[in-house]
Amino acid sequence: MEKAYVNEVFSSIQGEGLYIGLYQLFIRFEGCNLSCSYCDTDNSNKKDFEINGKKYLNPITVDNLLEIVLAEFNLDLYHSISFTGGEPSQQLEVIKTMVTEIRKRNKNIKFFLETNGSLPDNLIKLDEYMDIMSIDLKMHNKESILALPNLLNMLGKLTHSSYYLKLPFDAYGCEDKNLDYLIEQLTANGIKELIVQPLDNMINENIIDKLFTKFSKTDITIRLIAQTHKLLSIR
Ligand code: SF4
Repeated sequence: MEKAYVNEVFSSIQGEGLYIGLYQLFIRFEGCNLSCSYCDTDNSNKKDFEINGKKYLNPITVDNLLEIVLAEFNLDLYHSISFTGGEPSQQLEVIKTMVTEIRKRNKNIKFFLETNGSLPDNLIKLDEYMDIMSIDLKMHNKESILALPNLLNMLGKLTHSSYYLKLPFDAYGCEDKNLDYLIEQLTANGIKELIVQPLDNMINENIIDKLFTKFSKTDITIRLIAQTHKLLSIR
């Protein structure tokens, strides 16, 4: 029986990217293969976690987690269940089981993956289980930069899940050489859209000018979207 390492489970709106404002049930898993300097998730191997004020111990069997989720939340209320983290694709088998079991009970709910994109082999294995993948491109991170060609190649093989790509940007922007490499790779793979997301909603006008100037010379449309859950001071 698979066991899950959970950080928290809660209801909120999707605050980022293309599906902003939709009501979701977030299942946030523990653990990440990256360590971004700006990370706002506690990935400290939590011994326990809370759902609706009740405490549970990690790891939890997938059956037990499923039972609690079904008892605590009315899934008819949500647009989708967002598997987030940490890096949720590290808990591949748990996600597959959860989706399979929930689909038997609720035909309408969609499944959404929020991933750092650095483990493309895991993402392709989740294709048939997901409806939408929100994929971050962590261009400050060596592992993510190395994984980029495989990730973009994998996107062409998705047959079930849709996806969008998001570039999180801190207040200092992104190194020019990494941005140029990203543009080269996106262009080579025929990617036409990219969401730019200023972290903690902080960005200066020079960086905005630089970004839009750089991308204006490409076939890629960029859209700058804030982290709305932070504007609303909600999770
Ligand atoms: S990928 Fe996401 S969860 Fe992992 S360290 Fe970076 S910001 Fe945190």
